[in-house]
Amino acid sequence: MSANRWGLFDGNALSRAIPKQARNDAGAFARRELDSGARILAVVKNKVYLDEVDPKQLGWLCRPQVEERFGLRYTSDDDDDDDDGVSFASASASGEEEGGVKFDLVYLGREEGGRSFFALDLTRHRPASESPAFGELRSYIKANSDLLDSGERASSVSRAGYALALSNWARGVRFCPSCGGGPMRSAQMGTRRECPSCGKKQYPRLDPVAICLVVSSDGNHALLGSPRYASGRMLTCLAGFVEQGETLEEAAAREVMEEAGVEVGQIRILGSQPWPLGRSGACELMVGCIARATSSPGTGSLEIDFDEMNSVTWVEKGVVAEKLKQAKDRAAGLPVESGRGDTWIVPPYAIAHHLIDYWVNGDGNGVVAEERGDLKVSRL
Ligand SMILES: [Zn+2]
Repeated sequence: MSANRWGLFDGNALSRAIPKQARNDAGAFARRELDSGARILAVVKNKVYLDEVDPKQLGWLCRPQVEERFGLRYTSDDDDDDDDGVSFASASASGEEEGGVKFDLVYLGREEGGRSFFALDLTRHRPASESPAFGELRSYIKANSDLLDSGERASSVSRAGYALALSNWARGVRFCPSCGGGPMRSAQMGTRRECPSCGKKQYPRLDPVAICLVVSSDGNHALLGSPRYASGRMLTCLAGFVEQGETLEEAAAREVMEEAGVEVGQIRILGSQPWPLGRSGACELMVGCIARATSSPGTGSLEIDFDEMNSVTWVEKGVVAEKLKQAKDRAAGLPVESGRGDTWIVPPYAIAHHLIDYWVNGDGNGVVAEERGDLKVSRL
């Protein structure tokens, strides 16, 4: 399967397995990897370090560059029980100012036959967090619409998304949710957190989201909406978090009913996309579905939840096709004619774009796979 089938973040091409050597001695493993050219991405909250010469590139640095640019020194104290021996510390003077804060390296994975990649959360490092060289990853993506056409830069962004997600999660797990002990310490090179009092392990949080393209019963319209958190002009698929005790298909059907008052009869899961820029600060997994409604614009009315949505509307297929082409042209840097106030379809970095594309240009009306016999259809 090729990378970026469903937008950004789905093809970071790293092997995440923690090597056996690192399980036994994380400090020795990290030291060896850093000495042989491992790359580190510094992050500050939702910002990542950008290349200071070419801001179209992310600023993956090697160990000496990290030490020089951020005034840090690498420490791998194997006798230190407080962590797994993989961190940077402030260099002497600023270290005293910052109270000897350590900055744990988080292992992201390794290229096949190549370098290892790490994240370094510098949110608590005052000089770094004030640096203008850090930029919001979300803004970087919006400013570089050609990312999906460039395999290496797209992989770099996927890795950066993973770096942000792991760092944000680790920062939020300071104390043990079981016994209140802490501070939690880094384990398995930052990919787990462990309580020093009761030993309880915490694993990176992932929030599943059902995102659903709803096709009308007559097959000629898509139900598109503009969520309250986005521009009122952006049209996308309806989506919502999967709750405990329900399937993805049930979550999708529930969200469509809650946000638009539309009942769906068939739902098929098409694919998924990691989304490390979730609004709650956690990493989401967007699971893309296509659904067939039991109604059409002429046969049922919408009941829109305006607490969640600016608008929800049935959009005729020809209009969707036109706006989809505009979204593709815009992402490709081509001129697009559109009037003030026109709505636009979410760009190709998001799975919603590809669900809409699938309906318009791929599988016709989408949810008739049972007739082809090659894809499973979930009936509610
Ligand atoms: Zn505990």
